[in-house]
Amino acid sequence: MSEHSEGCIFCRIIAGEFGTSFVAETDDVVAFDDVSPQAPTHILVVPRRHVASVRELVRDDDRLWGEMLEVANRAALERGLADSGYRLVTNSGPDSGQEVFHLHMHVMGGSKLGRLG
Ligand code: 5GP
Ligand code: ZN
Repeated sequence: MSEHSEGCIFCRIIAGEFGTSFVAETDDVVAFDDVSPQAPTHILVVPRRHVASVRELVRDDDRLWGEMLEVANRAALERGLADSGYRLVTNSGPDSGQEVFHLHMHVMGGSKLGRLG
């Protein structure tokens, strides 16, 4: 796992190449709006460190995963979703449809979401 994966779009966003503003952030995690929202509010929560997907996380990454959850909750609160609710999703691998291979959690809300499954 490298600190910065060459050509990774999320590494470039985190490095500030596009001047993206963060909805919430901590030392190790940032949240920003998805460029192609699938819900009225659609935020991505992303570790600053390049990790390809949740599949690479192990027990010792519990602090990072917890921090992602904290940032997701803070971003949802910031956008007024705390009471109306929201969905957290992370895709891993081809069958999930993962397109960006830098770990991220989707935070979606702002309207009634379709049922899963
Ligand atoms: P995945 O399918 O990998 O779980 O989700 C990738 C998400 O990243 C998609 O929802 C897509 O719209 C979003 N995305 C892809 N490229 C960019 C980008 O350059 N900027 C932002 N903000 N989101 C992006
Ligand atoms: Zn990356």
